[in-house]
Amino acid sequence: MSQAIHLSQIYLDANATTPVLPQAAQAALTAMEDLFGNPSSSHITGLKAKNMMEQTRQRAKTLLGTGKGKLIFTSGATEGIQTGILSGLIKARENIEPGKNYSILYGATEHKAVPNSLEHWNSILGLNAEIKAIPVDSLGNLDLEFIAREVPNALMICTMAVNNETGVYQDLQRLEQTIREHNADTFWMVDCVQALGKRPLKLSETSIDYAPFSGHKLYAPKGIGFIYIRDSAPFTSFIAGGGQEGGLRSGTENLPGFAALNVIFEMLLDHENSCFSTAEKLEQYRQQLVSSLTAAFPEIVFNHSFENSVATTLNFAVPGFSSKELMDLFDAANIRVSSGSACSSKVTRSFVLDAMGLPAWQSESAIRLSFGPAMTQTEVDEACDRIQLAASALTHSCLMLDDTQLSDDRTPLDGLVQLRGGASCTWIYADLKTKQVLIIDPLPELEKRINTLLECQQLAPIAIIDTHGHADHISGRVALAQKHLKQQKCDHLGWPESSAKIQIDGIALDMIKLGELSLVKVASPGHTDDSISLLLTSDITKLKSSTHFAFCGDTVLMGSLGRTNFESSSSNKMFHSLKQLEQLIGPNTLLCASHDYNNEFTTSLMAEAARNPLLEGALNGKLSEAEFVTEKAHLDANLNDEVGTEIMCGAYTTDCQKMAIKEYDASNLQQLAQSETIKWIDIREPHEYALQHSLGIKTMASDSINVPMTRLVQFIQQHQDDKSSEWVLVCRSGSRSLVVAQAMQRLGFSNIAHLKGGYALSS
Ligand code: PLP
Repeated sequence: MSQAIHLSQIYLDANATTPVLPQAAQAALTAMEDLFGNPSSSHITGLKAKNMMEQTRQRAKTLLGTGKGKLIFTSGATEGIQTGILSGLIKARENIEPGKNYSILYGATEHKAVPNSLEHWNSILGLNAEIKAIPVDSLGNLDLEFIAREVPNALMICTMAVNNETGVYQDLQRLEQTIREHNADTFWMVDCVQALGKRPLKLSETSIDYAPFSGHKLYAPKGIGFIYIRDSAPFTSFIAGGGQEGGLRSGTENLPGFAALNVIFEMLLDHENSCFSTAEKLEQYRQQLVSSLTAAFPEIVFNHSFENSVATTLNFAVPGFSSKELMDLFDAANIRVSSGSACSSKVTRSFVLDAMGLPAWQSESAIRLSFGPAMTQTEVDEACDRIQLAASALTHSCLMLDDTQLSDDRTPLDGLVQLRGGASCTWIYADLKTKQVLIIDPLPELEKRINTLLECQQLAPIAIIDTHGHADHISGRVALAQKHLKQQKCDHLGWPESSAKIQIDGIALDMIKLGELSLVKVASPGHTDDSISLLLTSDITKLKSSTHFAFCGDTVLMGSLGRTNFESSSSNKMFHSLKQLEQLIGPNTLLCASHDYNNEFTTSLMAEAARNPLLEGALNGKLSEAEFVTEKAHLDANLNDEVGTEIMCGAYTTDCQKMAIKEYDASNLQQLAQSETIKWIDIREPHEYALQHSLGIKTMASDSINVPMTRLVQFIQQHQDDKSSEWVLVCRSGSRSLVVAQAMQRLGFSNIAHLKGGYALSS
């Protein structure tokens, strides 16, 4: 094992937050060490602090053209937003006429801090106003007609100057005309967080009442922000206390924060002595990044127009790649970007792009790349080089095709690959020698990825088969078969008519060859009448000991059995299908189901029987057919249809609970380095793994083997006899490694551990 070497990160997530500029950090440090006085103290130390504070305020006022308006410091924009909303709504409450309906308007693409605060204060103040989202068009522009119609009844209207996900800016002048033409008195707040340093603002020349800002989006530390309040706008203190900030916002002031902001304001005001780039330069950077991204990912789609967005934000999607995959890829290249909005990172799609009416896939797979005005040419050049490298890693691992380099240096595919679309699985088995490939339960959304893989690896399908007629999704089988198996005659599930007939244990079965392996078809009616199981075996005379994988569709799922309440279902038949499966395959044969709701990858009859009383009862004779049928009907009646069309583990009283896994963290690394016996498995995808190596980044587990999640089932099969070694799993952040460790432990790997926090916390 060797320790990680440091390859500088390229930080392209400025809309989430920025690093503190060294000059600003230095000023903050000085404020902590020397200028630390309390601005309320009347001695010299206090007076000096106060002087710096007022200088900062004055610079902000000049920069933003606040005129007679107030500018008070806050802890950040979220506090500013509360201050603006509270002030506006308390005043509006005074003029509410009983019996009249009122609304509060906000832009549909607003940062969640705004609608959530509106809900909060509307409820606390008992206003009972209807909170309405102002729609946007496909370019992200607010619907002015909607505003014209709705604003006469609005107590307040909240819009944003620049969107944090797309960089789209609003035409504030036209917006103001529309608002004021229809309601001269309503209170108007404009969230200016993402506009600071990127858009010109002359606030006193507008009728904006409140404009909150945040320091950490422009190179100041977290915990400092400020809000502009129009001189005629009402004001209610959000924080009362010792009367600081002229009584408007109490609490001893954040001097280090002011000192840092002071430097930032100075740079924004004095272009000559600033490390901030001009608008033209930032536009050049955007063009360079766009060209580089387009060259790297030719199918890239940008999710906004460049005409009405700031140069520092790019939001895009690449067909065929989820945002998680692209995030992992960029992270492996040491480029930090974000998916959707970093402020709500658990959400899998972007409400901003949804509001713009973009197709679902663009919203689900959006990546945001954002930088600040301190970006340098060197950083842009380096980012472009790494984007190119990242794309090459994708072509290298056959996830993207590159006509210019159909290269021979790719690792040829050998064995089983598990691909996913949501909770459904497609299985692909490639025979290294013959270059033949078998595709089972292909999902339509994976068609492109499968075609790319086949072309890149120069594989020829010998069969494309569904394990049953899927009720919950359309199969991708027909489209793939039309492309690759035009001449083949097959049944409605894709099983080739030319297959051979064999007899095993008195059972007549069909069989096709795949290199030296055989694929045996076994009828498994139950979930549907046409359900089949496909046994991939190295010796048809010894199915029990030599079946590597059983593709069993929805007959046995991880934690459950397929539902049997369709018209063509039969739980009686399922009872017999399960018994026959047990007769043919081994207790540890890996079952490859067509769904994986809990990230468990694969299972075996033994592992399932241990936690599934119904299966166990059927297999060991504890349950009669009639009892099985009764219990199964009971479970089917309790199906949770919202999570899929199969019985979920929730239907069982016993567990699908995740087991505890032995964890190591960065503090154990030295001790682990000395171990002779530990075997490291890096479970990142091959392109992430390759990228780190091509960038010369050595990780602590550089002597690891790479077993990506798509190849895990193959790995488990190959290591059935090595379940007691200490395998330590590692990935980028520790979440994939935990999931894989749980799956392996459940299947009998008795000495599994993972690295908590992954490479992210260990390098
Ligand atoms: N408004 C916008 C547009 C933002 O981007 C953010 C931060 O992501 C906020 C408000 C909240 O800012 P703060 O983190 O300073 O509370």
